[in-house]
Amino acid sequence: MLHLLAIFVFFFVAWWVAADAKKRGYNDYQVFGWFFGVLLLFVVFLPLYLVLRSKRPKPTRPAATTKVCSCCGEPFQGKVTFCPYCGEKL
Ligand SMILES: [Zn+2]
Repeated sequence: MLHLLAIFVFFFVAWWVAADAKKRGYNDYQVFGWFFGVLLLFVVFLPLYLVLRSKRPKPTRPAATTKVCSCCGEPFQGKVTFCPYCGEKL
């Protein structure tokens, strides 16, 4: 009975890690790897994940790096010296 409960807790934590990893931009294989890593080697992978996730910043989605031209208001990405839409120096 206690084993069953432990498995349930491991499964829940593994599921949480997988969901958290996915939110942080890990791909499906990495999420899968973390899930089974935590499930099978709980004491090794859970602290490892918690250490790694604190080091890894949240993924910068293209939307986050998108800036808006102060002149025409068009969005652009990356480092641009001049606005590609109106030519205003940025
Ligand atoms: Zn512009």
